[in-house]
Amino acid sequence: MSRQAIDELKQQIPLLDYLEAHDWRPVRRLSRGRWMGLCPLHVDHKPSFLMDTGKNLFYCYGCGRGGDVIRFAELYHQLRFPQAVARLLEWRGVASLLEQVRNFYRIQLHRHSEAVLYLHQRGLRSPEVIEHMQIGYAPGRCLRAWLMQLGYPLSLLHQTGLVNTSGLDAFSNRIVFPLEGNLYGRSIGNAAPHRFLPGPKGGLYLWEQVRRCPEVILVEGLFDYAVLWQAGFHNLTCSMGNHLNARQFRQLCDGTRTVYLTFDADCNGSGQQAAQRLASRLREHGLNARRVSLPDGHDPNNFFVQGGDAQQFQRLLEEAHA
Ligand SMILES: [Zn+2]
Repeated sequence: MSRQAIDELKQQIPLLDYLEAHDWRPVRRLSRGRWMGLCPLHVDHKPSFLMDTGKNLFYCYGCGRGGDVIRFAELYHQLRFPQAVARLLEWRGVASLLEQVRNFYRIQLHRHSEAVLYLHQRGLRSPEVIEHMQIGYAPGRCLRAWLMQLGYPLSLLHQTGLVNTSGLDAFSNRIVFPLEGNLYGRSIGNAAPHRFLPGPKGGLYLWEQVRRCPEVILVEGLFDYAVLWQAGFHNLTCSMGNHLNARQFRQLCDGTRTVYLTFDADCNGSGQQAAQRLASRLREHGLNARRVSLPDGHDPNNFFVQGGDAQQFQRLLEEAHA
């Protein structure tokens, strides 16, 4: 890539947009368009990360690192320069594409009664939770044509995994939850239940909304998240599986807090083992980790679907093991 193309890329991606898309939030405003916030590159307890919107540069007084958006991508994703550039080019195209997809699927949800019925069966009834999570529906066989009509090239649709090698919509008969830079689709038919687009599943679900809570409930599934949120537990996040990626773990450890690990009580014990391992790792990082025990064979979703209520769940939180 030419020097000029690289300069263009840097101009087209405001560092602040990229930081915010990766959960960074400015905390304190300084003069001349400069902001301070917590450093996303090290475990930071007081804002030491300086972001200069005018110069499109950052500097951290804690870990001493700084530079432009490419340097940030190199450090944050632990990539070499060419890979960091590729990542940013992709981000620029994919961010706008995924927004279109999200909106399209949200419209489809209300046109397909089988999807709404499925949500009801999983205990999701309030329009607020559907709005909050921006839940949509992928009927299949309609996204590709619509995106190409909007001018997105087929190669990009292949590259993002929205269209499969046979040229069909990759998500079909799936409830769709937008994630940061990805989508999660839950099959309502016979296909494999869980599907993500290729690439990282992203950080903790809607982390920015809860990172300042002194107590956070962590669940492993988005349907668990949905019923708990609906029941009024808003200090809540989700890891999309019981294995946390490095980024999710770093997010949980970015401050002092109590984490209530509310993983599935699977009959084979895998959820509880994962919770136990995670609890000890969190304690090593100085967090207060508590494991919530659901009745055998339950996850938070079917706990509520089968008649559990907010009071009963609150009791489980209070009884959680240290
Ligand atoms: Zn730092």
